[in-house]
Amino acid sequence: MIWSPDYETLDAPALARVQGERLGRLVDVLYRRVPFYRKKMEKAAVGPQDIQGIGDIQRLPFTTKDEMRDVYPYGLLAVDLRDIVEIHTSSGTTGKPVVDAYTAADIDIWSEAMARTLSSGGTTRHDIVQNAYGYGLFTGGLGVHYGARRIGATVIPISGGNTKRQLAVLRDFKSTILTCTPSYSLFLAEAAQEDGLDLGGLGLKAGFFGAEPWSESMRTEIEGKLKLLSIDIYGLTEIIGPGVAMECECHEGMHVNEDHFFPEVIDPATGAVLPDGQKGELVITTLTKDGTPVLRYRTRDITYLDHRPCACGRTTVRMHRVLGRTDDMLIIRGVNVFPSQIEEVILGVEGVEPHYQLVVDRREQLDELEVQVEMNDAVFSDEIRNLEQVERKIEAELYAALNIHTRVRLVEPRTIARSEGKARRIIDKRTLEEAHG
Ligand code: ADP
Ligand code: ZN
Repeated sequence: MIWSPDYETLDAPALARVQGERLGRLVDVLYRRVPFYRKKMEKAAVGPQDIQGIGDIQRLPFTTKDEMRDVYPYGLLAVDLRDIVEIHTSSGTTGKPVVDAYTAADIDIWSEAMARTLSSGGTTRHDIVQNAYGYGLFTGGLGVHYGARRIGATVIPISGGNTKRQLAVLRDFKSTILTCTPSYSLFLAEAAQEDGLDLGGLGLKAGFFGAEPWSESMRTEIEGKLKLLSIDIYGLTEIIGPGVAMECECHEGMHVNEDHFFPEVIDPATGAVLPDGQKGELVITTLTKDGTPVLRYRTRDITYLDHRPCACGRTTVRMHRVLGRTDDMLIIRGVNVFPSQIEEVILGVEGVEPHYQLVVDRREQLDELEVQVEMNDAVFSDEIRNLEQVERKIEAELYAALNIHTRVRLVEPRTIARSEGKARRIIDKRTLEEAHG
């Protein structure tokens, strides 16, 4: 179901025209009203007069998260604070948070983008949306909330956590749509099973899962256990929150709402813009946001673009599911690998559960990776000898697929910490030691 056919199915020249006009207006506003951006443009010797169309975007400077943090809290504001109606921030666990301040018009755009997102998995006004993304400064909860309201669906704003209550609400209120992180959906499935509740039989139609990377193997697990259509949704606080891009039912990449959020993929080392199909860092420009608009924001997320037409009828560009964040990339004896690539391999092995953790350590100057995976109850009750066979088998598959040497350790069922929001996949003992040393 396409929520805004007027924009989601525009032909390429018409879309480029809309984007070009919006970019021109944006650059004009940023130049006049935001010293942070005016300085950046002056340094790059570019100004509003240089922007004639969307193609000119490449002349504009990039913006990084660190630069945005430097002007915390209000240095990115392009309007008077009086006109801001809501503020969210990034989690800020690794430093000062980045502030996203919304005008009423921005909330409107966000609602629209999220209505498109939820529609792409079939949500209508007849649906009951159990929204298990966290409400608060985190954008997930309210983003989904606004989209569901725009569609006219019923929202249950249960927020994240409180798993027992989630299950009771799913059962009693007959929720048809579930929104949460992919890892939390599996936690719910597991908790349901322990309570003897058949989650797959409750009437859930679709789930909208995002906020963290997940693999196709993870999709198979989730759809198998929850018996629903799974839709990958993407967004980030710095841009607007969720609503930047979403899969359609074709599951061949996420359609970017590019009339609002213009995507580019660059070589992270040189900044050169890469053609379709080439992996690099996603860069996004907000074409319509008023409160805290963003110019060529380097997301640190790795993906590639695809402009080919999609069978769903949308003409918007698709981004491949996020392979990982540059911050989360592991370098194991010189080989670069993302946790989601490891996930893809290990979840394909029989006898393991979709709960894992990666422990990185340094021994004799070399980085070593231990992959801890939960086995299922059947394997657990087996002989130790078989466990070792399974471990060696996973190690061999990881080597065959990714060319990395790992140590795989099967751990007992239900021993890896479950997450109610974003899963923590990596335990880096190297940085822990540095921090304590
Ligand atoms: P942070 O996690 O940095 O505190 P956000 O909550 O804004 O801030 O999270 C945004 C980040 O979450 C994205 O940059 C991306 O790394 C990750 N993310 C969001 N949606 C997805 C998705 N569908 N697939 C993979 N990663 C995602
Ligand atoms: Zn599509």
